[in-house]
Amino acid sequence: MVLPAPLKGDNEAGEETVSATTHPGASAAARPVRVDQDAPLDAVVVGAGFGGLYMTHRLREAGLTVQGVEAADDVGGTWWWNRYPGARCDIPSLLYSYTFSPELQESWRWSEKYATQPEILAYASHVADRFDLRRSFLFGTRVVSARFDEAAQLWVVTTDKGDEIAARFCIMATGCLSVPRGLDLPGAETFEGPIHVTGLWPHQPVDFTGKRVAVIGTGSSAIQSTPLIAEQAQHVYVFQRTPNFSLPALNAPISDEEVAAFRANFPAYVELLRSGQPALPIPPADYAPSEEELNALVAQLWNGWGLISLVQVPNLVRDERINQVAADFVRARIAEIVKDPAVAEKLTPRDFPLGTKRACVDTGWYETFNRDNVTLVDVREAPIEAITPMGVRTAAQDYPVDVIVGAMGFDAMTGALLRMDIRGRDGRSLAEAWAEGPKTYLGLAIAGFPNLFTVTGPGSPSVLTNVLTACEQHVDWIMEAIGHVQGRQARTMEATAEAQEAWVAHVNDEADKTLFPQAASWYIGANVPGKPRVFMPYVGEGYKIRCDAVAADGYVGFAVG
Ligand code: NAP
Repeated sequence: MVLPAPLKGDNEAGEETVSATTHPGASAAARPVRVDQDAPLDAVVVGAGFGGLYMTHRLREAGLTVQGVEAADDVGGTWWWNRYPGARCDIPSLLYSYTFSPELQESWRWSEKYATQPEILAYASHVADRFDLRRSFLFGTRVVSARFDEAAQLWVVTTDKGDEIAARFCIMATGCLSVPRGLDLPGAETFEGPIHVTGLWPHQPVDFTGKRVAVIGTGSSAIQSTPLIAEQAQHVYVFQRTPNFSLPALNAPISDEEVAAFRANFPAYVELLRSGQPALPIPPADYAPSEEELNALVAQLWNGWGLISLVQVPNLVRDERINQVAADFVRARIAEIVKDPAVAEKLTPRDFPLGTKRACVDTGWYETFNRDNVTLVDVREAPIEAITPMGVRTAAQDYPVDVIVGAMGFDAMTGALLRMDIRGRDGRSLAEAWAEGPKTYLGLAIAGFPNLFTVTGPGSPSVLTNVLTACEQHVDWIMEAIGHVQGRQARTMEATAEAQEAWVAHVNDEADKTLFPQAASWYIGANVPGKPRVFMPYVGEGYKIRCDAVAADGYVGFAVG
């Protein structure tokens, strides 16, 4: 028995039956939701970020039944949670947009080159409204477990609200950076003031006026928020363990001419993406720019195109000489901007190649250290020993503060998947299958977990490319795969262990050809104590072409049964 009736797809013939419980605002219908195995849905989608929204749209468009589940109270994924001051996209906003619908593209006008978090959240909301996606989601609901029932060949997903939903396919659109590390430092629970973690920021603006503030961490989240906090606070202490490379955003309003030019080129841009989006362009093996050419290229790092400017320096993450020149260029800019040479030196990254930890894109990061009310605390010189009731204690001294901002990063790429109890064949857990690090086929599927797909999973380019268009590519591929299963009257599709082993080896080989393994980054799991150190994103060339070839060859590497 199915209680209540599941959603029907938009294009399905006949009247649409909408579950009254699929959106909290829709009605006061009963929870928990139960979708039993004798009348399962076609799909469950976990996550209402950009991956989950588009997945749900495509499933419904294809006439399939779907239930979405989202822990947050509304759509937006990472942009719903990360509300800290200064939160912005580090990909230009015109590119950080869906490409599947030219009409959607026309219907939205970004105001700035790098959009703010509120504007991106408004965009997600606009998409949800336009395609009426909210009614497919249970919001404020966290998936606790997903279990593959081998007899029924179905996934059974349970939530923290007691829902139990049976579905043929389970799609994890749970994001790459969605499990923030709290302030997991000794004594944090004793601090008498508020602690705000950037990835779980309060919905009401935090007023730092007159406050002494500790910011812990110097990744993108701290680099974006500190300059704005410093404008309000009495004093800001920035606790830095590893200095980061940051490039100027040179943010500005987008002109009508820029929008018109982008829209005019939109079909060509989409064509480019569809033709195969490389994670990182690889120039010819004999590419060897002269010193002069190289210096001209690296000057582009300061042109305001942030992360895109990194790929304009070919072989940056593959050739030590090229990287050295580019990194020296950035180091020289830091020395120019920061007036106190001792502070400048502390802010200068010297122990990993440029681009091998995610570079940041900032507005006033280095400049903020010229302010009298900002102090850089080098915790390599004197490590943080504890959080005390009054503030932060390092090996050298106590820093009394009123507020602590935790900007200590995320359990990236695997965290969101592993905090659910996902069990595939023989009741084997994902935690067990990934005990030595994540293993996937194409970053899309996992051997032993039939009909489970991951959107931008480990083993795909994901965080090394434009995540939004990477989500689209994955969703489109998953939709074709589901169509293939259904077209063959089959019930399951599963990556073979051999194909998965070969892909994992290939992902590692490609990473080993680069300088990435030289950095203790979150790409490699180095930021979470005890996490297996495996380079997780795919850095090889022609990823989309490979995925399409697998499909064109009849889903080689998958068992369809
Ligand atoms: P992050 O880059 O992982 O930075 C975390 C910071 O916390 C690092 O500086 C780290 O130092 C420090 N830290 C961790 N544990 C510490 C400890 N025990 N003591 C002292 N310091 C400690 O995290 P994030 O800034 O949140 O950014 C993560 C990713 O999210 C980014 O790389 C980016 O992909 C994405 N993001 C994007 C944007 C955007 O512009 N759109 C904004 C924010 C985040 P170590 O380096 O020494 O480990």
